[in-house]
Amino acid sequence: MQRRGVLRILFASAEALPWVKQGGLGDVLGALPRELFALGHEVATVLPLYAAIDREDAGLELLATIHVRFQGVDFPTRIYAAPYPRSECRALFIENQYYFERQGVYQDAATGQPWPDDHERWFFFQVALLELVRQTDMNPDLIVCADWQTAMLPALLRIRHQEDRHLQRTRSVLALHNMGYQGVLPAEHITSLGLPRELLFPLSPFEFYGQLNCLKAGISFADEVVTVSPSYAKEICTQELGHGLDGVLRHHGDRVQGILNGIDVEEWNPATDPWLDEHFSAAHLGRKAGNRPRLLSSFGLDGNYTGPILAMVTRLTGQKGMNILAGCVDRLLTRDLRLLILGSGEPQFEKFLRDVATAHPERMAVRIGYDEALAHLTYAGADFFLMPSRYEPCGLSQMYAMRYGTLPIVHATGGLKDTVTGFLDDADHATGFSFTDYNAEALLESVDTALSAWRNARAMRRLQKNAMKQDFSWEHSAKRYEDLFFQVRDHSRWGE
Ligand code: ADP
Repeated sequence: MQRRGVLRILFASAEALPWVKQGGLGDVLGALPRELFALGHEVATVLPLYAAIDREDAGLELLATIHVRFQGVDFPTRIYAAPYPRSECRALFIENQYYFERQGVYQDAATGQPWPDDHERWFFFQVALLELVRQTDMNPDLIVCADWQTAMLPALLRIRHQEDRHLQRTRSVLALHNMGYQGVLPAEHITSLGLPRELLFPLSPFEFYGQLNCLKAGISFADEVVTVSPSYAKEICTQELGHGLDGVLRHHGDRVQGILNGIDVEEWNPATDPWLDEHFSAAHLGRKAGNRPRLLSSFGLDGNYTGPILAMVTRLTGQKGMNILAGCVDRLLTRDLRLLILGSGEPQFEKFLRDVATAHPERMAVRIGYDEALAHLTYAGADFFLMPSRYEPCGLSQMYAMRYGTLPIVHATGGLKDTVTGFLDDADHATGFSFTDYNAEALLESVDTALSAWRNARAMRRLQKNAMKQDFSWEHSAKRYEDLFFQVRDHSRWGE
């Protein structure tokens, strides 16, 4: 067999566990780099040094001081390094007190509003990252960027650094974790990156209705575009889910691959999870119930309740199906069940859910906020996990739920379609419940199907065991990424 050698991979991201997580991106960047490192590659993840990262706790060490020229100003910039937990793979942190010593990753934590200079923060980050590569002679084979915050890197490589001996052989891969956020900005902002305004002519790779679209530029210039599930890779090429970029994606269609995310099966293991009251496994499923009383009481409900518990752990946004939940929640609460929701997000949904819970204090409870410990207990103690997302690039929560024997009830879209086998589609192999039409009636019907299964203890147990048997570990997906990265390294679409 031909030896493919070692890949030098640099991930650029706004999030990576254990340092910073706002959603699934943080989980993925917490695991994939480590997996690739374990396969023998040279891997590092580059992140901003946020105020919330405790330098001592994280064991940060000064690696270098580089010089970054950005918007006509010289920023002496310190770079710190720290190892991932349980690995020697490293994360590198770019320090800039002005841009990153703030509370909140994407938004001002105090107001919930996006930072007014958000684009500037991410532009600085990208320029600094390329300077880091140049000034420390890193010579990566690949830079893997994620979402709009780092999506200008492929264009910078192709345009500003095409003749640069440090970067001219570096390929780029853009990972799309969510097409709903594209970084659409006033056209003149392109000049902050040292790119001429003239590049933004009608129909150019940067232009979107007269504005700069960072994600469009990323898709147009990256050697390869990858997204986080095979179904989402197809869906984003349609008008319905392409968020205005389906045409661009169709044009590049042969380069959009879908690789399902994995989950960290050590972190998410019901047999060892430190946040649980009682550990359990598929062989000792009965013990799962030991997690119910504290779960219910943590939400302020009667801990002795023995009927079905439906739960959600989610960002409270339109994407996550809040609208169709709103359309049926009153009817849902006429059933014998408890509905527990842990989440935070758009104020109107937070208020709406609080109001419904106040009207049904015995049946429904809402905890607004981000709470890792309660999230783990919820996955463990609930019976069903509701995920009626309008669209879902991959979704990790349904995989955590299955691993904890909690059956997902999902809208069959994106990664939910690729990971959950619905009871009505294949009763013998089902791992949950799914509905096709995105509306409140279909959601309610699916919940009713789940409640009928609950009344049949044997059927329920079989479904739970099916769900717990699924292998969602990173191993398989990391190998697919490895293949893809070799392919990109060896065959640039730009033909060098
Ligand atoms: P997305 O990235 O779109 O938010 P995913 O399902 O891919 O959705 O990932 C969501 C991750 O964030 C899961 O790990 C989930 O447990 C976690 N999460 C979401 N909201 C909360 C919350 N309020 N408290 C704790 N964890 C949360």
